[in-house]
Amino acid sequence: MNFICIVCPKSCPIDVLLDEENKIKSISGANCKNGLRYATQELSFPSRVFTSIVKLTGGQIAMCPVKSDQAVPRELILKMSRSLCQLSIAAPVKIGDIVVENILGTKANIVVTRNIDKCKQQTKTAKIPR
Ligand code: SF4
Repeated sequence: MNFICIVCPKSCPIDVLLDEENKIKSISGANCKNGLRYATQELSFPSRVFTSIVKLTGGQIAMCPVKSDQAVPRELILKMSRSLCQLSIAAPVKIGDIVVENILGTKANIVVTRNIDKCKQQTKTAKIPR
């Protein structure tokens, strides 16, 4: 089995040899312990830090970037995206604010990754030329 390590920008190609019972026989190509750990985890429990955006009302921008505060099972990422589509939060928000606690029972929280203030109200009124 071949894949690319995504832990750092070096992107090492990793080859994993499995035995008849699908257990790891050997791993080659990883240039460090982090790569070995990644390869082992990728085969047993693939997970990713999830990133997305959610609707934001009353803010300076209409969408708010969010992420999971820990890696979540890769198989749940599409389901998480769909559940966040239905969500709307209100400004102001700040980095680290929890948007969803324990999303889909993963123990991961979805948190805000950008400070966004409320939209300032327009106080000037435009003059209509006559
Ligand atoms: S194996 Fe190590 S050096 Fe290579 S991409 Fe992964 S983390 Fe980076």
